[in-house]
Amino acid sequence: MNRAAGLICLAAAAVLAGCGREPVRTVVIPPAQVEVAQAPAPAAAVPAPQAPSSPPTAQMGAAPALAAPRFDGDPGDLEGARFLVARSLMVPVAGIPPAALHDTYEQGRGSRTHEAIDIAAPAGTPVVAVDNGRIAKLFTSKPGGLTIYLFDADGRLAYYYAHLDAYAPGLKEGMEVQRGTLLGTVGSTGNADPKVPHLHFAVFKLGPQRNWWQGDPVNPYPALRLAAPAEVVASR
Ligand SMILES: [Zn+2]
Repeated sequence: MNRAAGLICLAAAAVLAGCGREPVRTVVIPPAQVEVAQAPAPAAAVPAPQAPSSPPTAQMGAAPALAAPRFDGDPGDLEGARFLVARSLMVPVAGIPPAALHDTYEQGRGSRTHEAIDIAAPAGTPVVAVDNGRIAKLFTSKPGGLTIYLFDADGRLAYYYAHLDAYAPGLKEGMEVQRGTLLGTVGSTGNADPKVPHLHFAVFKLGPQRNWWQGDPVNPYPALRLAAPAEVVASR
């Protein structure tokens, strides 16, 4: 592992330590439960993140080298995972290559699991729309801080952004956005550790009523590993 990758892993470990116990696995996701305050876990309890540069097929011998890393984790809701992998996504945080992401979906304590991915970045780093869609809700909650619920263009998936420092100027509910539209900036609002600003990013498969507070969690990690690096586009 090179030094830069080590620093990224250290940052990820720090995020994990401050963010290990968050949402509840449940069909209904009240905003107040999306992140739950907790005492930081000791760093030693955090599993070492996988080195992103390790080729997953190296020990498989005859297996062909694939661009997509093998994924053995929990995909979350299977139908939602199929919807998600069919989307053409962009990493939600500027300056973060897909290979630097770590799967923190299954991290947790006791019966609670994270069901989201944490992406560490300096406060003020641009956060963009991962997909084309519509701003369904701008919501401030005690645990999540400044949050955004973005629905995909088909109204089947919700993308959830939390701990934002600020919304992009002019961002409004009902607004159509495209992949790469600036939504806000990374921060540590809500219950995030101010010393470790990060984006808490989750995906839900929406129910038939398309309520922004209801959904089945989907692991965003496999799709984000295939996503394009963030690039801010001008709004239409
Ligand atoms: Zn989180």
